[in-house]
Amino acid sequence: MAKLIAGNWKMFKGPTETLAFFDAFESPENVEVVICPPFVSLEAAVAEEWPVFAQNVHWAEEGAFTGEISARMLVELGVQGSLVGHSERRLYFGETDETVRQRAEAALGAGLGVIACVGETEAEREAGETEAVLRRQVAVLPRHEALVIAYEPVWAIGTGRTATPELAQEAHALIKSLHETRVLYGGSVKPENAAELLSQPAVDGALVGGASLDAASFSSLCRIAASLS
Ligand code: PEP
Repeated sequence: MAKLIAGNWKMFKGPTETLAFFDAFESPENVEVVICPPFVSLEAAVAEEWPVFAQNVHWAEEGAFTGEISARMLVELGVQGSLVGHSERRLYFGETDETVRQRAEAALGAGLGVIACVGETEAEREAGETEAVLRRQVAVLPRHEALVIAYEPVWAIGTGRTATPELAQEAHALIKSLHETRVLYGGSVKPENAAELLSQPAVDGALVGGASLDAASFSSLCRIAASLS
């Protein structure tokens, strides 16, 4: 199966920069690519005819939820899915396992794909709690063919520190034993380390933050993934 490479732009790139990115971005065929721009750039990205996911989605169909966006609104825009439970949402915006479950269920129910993020913090790893954290976070996720899990050790996100391929393989194998789905690795993935991570048997692709912002670097990552698919 082709590797899946998802680019999480976080709070970077308005519509103008989004169009400039797509002008310069090139991807080979033998890889599945998803771009996750900020809400205001979704429409511009959808018009480029690449699979586009939001970075978050609310569980209600509509209502008094200032600052939130529903799954139905994303579908109307032509968006194909959403991230849920990114560690930055868990850390800064009070996301819990229960709200992650609700967001995932609402998105899947509306016909969207979901990339659900799980992963331990540095303190949890040092305390020997990695397996318990992953078991708890994965347990709430719906079983659905359109759900993909991203294993993102929190200590590796945006830090330049990457899990070793062996450590990623071990966590992915555990997740796959709990939930029959594709599992992406996330945490400082870049062209220099992509091949060794993506060659692990349980690593089905990558969720990429920083290195997805630059079209040349993201194109090169996608080429590496295609060569391993
Ligand atoms: C992410 O935002 O999901 C991520 C993995 O970021 P980075 O690649 O920058 O560590």
